[in-house]
Amino acid sequence: MRATMHITVLGAGIAGLTTAWYLVRDGHAVEVVERNSGVALEASFANGAQLSYSYVAPLAGPSVLPKVPPWLLRRDAPLRFYPAFDTRQWRWLLEFVLACRRGTSELTTQRLLSLSFYSRALMHRFVSEEDIDFGYARTGKLVLYSAQADFDGARRLLDFQRSLGCEQDALDRAQCVALEPMLGDSRSLLGRRIVGGIRTVSEEVGDCYRFSRGLEEKLRAQGVVFHLGSHVTGLETRGGRITAVNTATGSLPTDLCVMTLGAQSPVLSRTLGFRLPIYPLKGYSLTLPPRPEGASLGISITDATRKVVYAPLADASKISLRVAGMADISGYSNRIDPVRVKQLFLEAERAFPAATDYAPGPDAMQPWTGLRPATPKGMPILGASPFPNLFLNCGHGALGWTLALGSARILADLIKGATPEIALAGFTLPR
Ligand SMILES: Cc1cc2nc3c(=O)[nH]c(=O)nc-3n(C[C@H](O)[C@H](O)[C@H](O)COP(=O)(O)OP(=O)(O)OC[C@H]3O[C@@H](n4cnc5c(N)ncnc54)[C@H](O)[C@@H]3O)c2cc1C
Repeated sequence: MRATMHITVLGAGIAGLTTAWYLVRDGHAVEVVERNSGVALEASFANGAQLSYSYVAPLAGPSVLPKVPPWLLRRDAPLRFYPAFDTRQWRWLLEFVLACRRGTSELTTQRLLSLSFYSRALMHRFVSEEDIDFGYARTGKLVLYSAQADFDGARRLLDFQRSLGCEQDALDRAQCVALEPMLGDSRSLLGRRIVGGIRTVSEEVGDCYRFSRGLEEKLRAQGVVFHLGSHVTGLETRGGRITAVNTATGSLPTDLCVMTLGAQSPVLSRTLGFRLPIYPLKGYSLTLPPRPEGASLGISITDATRKVVYAPLADASKISLRVAGMADISGYSNRIDPVRVKQLFLEAERAFPAATDYAPGPDAMQPWTGLRPATPKGMPILGASPFPNLFLNCGHGALGWTLALGSARILADLIKGATPEIALAGFTLPR
């Protein structure tokens, strides 16, 4: 076992904060460096809020390739590609296409499930020991299908998923409506078009930003130093080791660093001479305020056809509805595209017309965009880097909230010199 050290965590999204959490519990002196004025203001701010432990199949899969051409041609498609003169974008796309092979995608699913189940166990321990109010609820999840062929395909996958430990069952349309009465609203286009759904009772929801703020408070109370508003410009090296973190405001000496910079991780890694296969997949969300006396969703929902997720989030006496979706391969800009926001708004209005008062329009529903730090295969990158005292915890794509605690515990174990509780095959930096 290594001795305790002075460790610097680069980035204060959910990956950085959870890493700091386990490091400080292992007795290390921890500093967190973040360019924004607060924690979790980027991808971890208003994500889909689903703790999606059983739904980890990567975007890259055999069924996705035939859908890509029509998606690329439609302006309202869930996935949109904006070609750029950027070799990083094209290389990522090529690797994504190669990862769509059935064998690759099934192996990725198996590996991600081991990490997600581990993360779930850690989340259960966390909520039983700590008292952060983040709208955490064990709602279960219903994934809805509008085309019979897609539903049949999902049913065929049930046995495979069960063999890996998922607790799921198939429901016909009437059973879906009985489970979630808002789908029975005669104005709900989603309710009318579905042919069936897959229910997973063990899925959960929670607000990643509120969790992050609560964690920040706990970390400060345990002596973690936060350098907010500090942009990391580079890392100083001597004799092949990192010696200090350079920021726009000064240099911070360190024994060891953990890179948790989300979609920006490859930008820093390039300055150190190594490539991380991470590219931003831009997504959007809205947070719908409840009607004063209105009904709210009792279960988390995924519209598999339109690739939109709905999660009820409780805060004090009200339950808001987080609606998230879209995957735009459009570079690093986090500009909010009003056309995409309007599309998401219309999806929500057509799916759950009674969920809120839609009259004020999307601008009244906290429109937000974030960059998922996506790897082509959908596997995060955990552990060693080419530098012995620089560790990686990045590239969690669409599952960074779900996988946060497991990934962070693995990092802390590796730094401690202990064997992580799940196998690391496939999670490490490709050489
Ligand atoms: C629309 C949408 C919906 C999603 N829904 C879900 C969901 O339902 N469930 C789920 O599990 N996941 C979901 N995700 C994915 C999840 O939100 C991300 O995987 C996760 O937030 C990534 O966390 P992170 O800490 O790696 O990155 P970030 O949260 O982006 O954190 C990286 C931090 O590094 C900082 N940083 C970057 N560069 C520098 C620098 N040079 N110097 C200093 N600081 C720097 C950034 O400011 C940022 O705070 C969703 C994502 C999106 C966009």
